Amino acid sequence: MNFSSKLLEQAVAEFGRLPGVGQKTALRLVLHLLKQPEADVTRFTAALDRLKQEIRYCATCHNISDNAVCEICASHKRDKGLICVVEDTRDVMAIENTNQYHGVYHVLGGLISPMDGIGPSDLQIDSLIKRIDAGAGEVQEVILALSATMEGDTTIFYLYKKLKDFGVQISTIARGIAFGGELEYVDEVTLGRSIATRVPYERSIA
Ligand SMILES: [Zn+2]
Repeated sequence: MNFSSKLLEQAVAEFGRLPGVGQKTALRLVLHLLKQPEADVTRFTAALDRLKQEIRYCATCHNISDNAVCEICASHKRDKGLICVVEDTRDVMAIENTNQYHGVYHVLGGLISPMDGIGPSDLQIDSLIKRIDAGAGEVQEVILALSATMEGDTTIFYLYKKLKDFGVQISTIARGIAFGGELEYVDEVTLGRSIATRVPYERSIA
């Protein structure tokens, strides 16, 4: 693309770095912003600045939060004996939308993927083990609600091996979700049912 302005080119290059945004879309977005009142653009950039500078991760479950401990972990209405392990915050949002889950979460921050150089130590796995250990029997069940992909299965198996001696029930969500399925794209009814009809992991690998 031949730009008439270096500033325009730089802005388009920044937008073009976003996932799923090509050069043409980036240019369309930048030209759109350029037409907006200055106050609107300032609000837009301020929201991004604040997001990056002020966002926190819950000290307990590692979900994105405005506070040191997220609202779910802080709530007295949630069952602390039930931990649902998910890949990222999108999965928490998807499961919360089902209105069928009343336990708490643990956000791994990714899945084990040797191909991408992501190992167990890159994820919030040690903190999950510590959390269960420190709970001194409070945690009754851990639901491994991970994607039905190679990486999801690898991570589930790894977690199972790490957690099986803690005396907690380990379950996986029912795989009505197609292999290769990502949790966030599953409709709420299916996802809600998958959690309600979860199965012990031992049985699911037999
Ligand atoms: Zn939390």
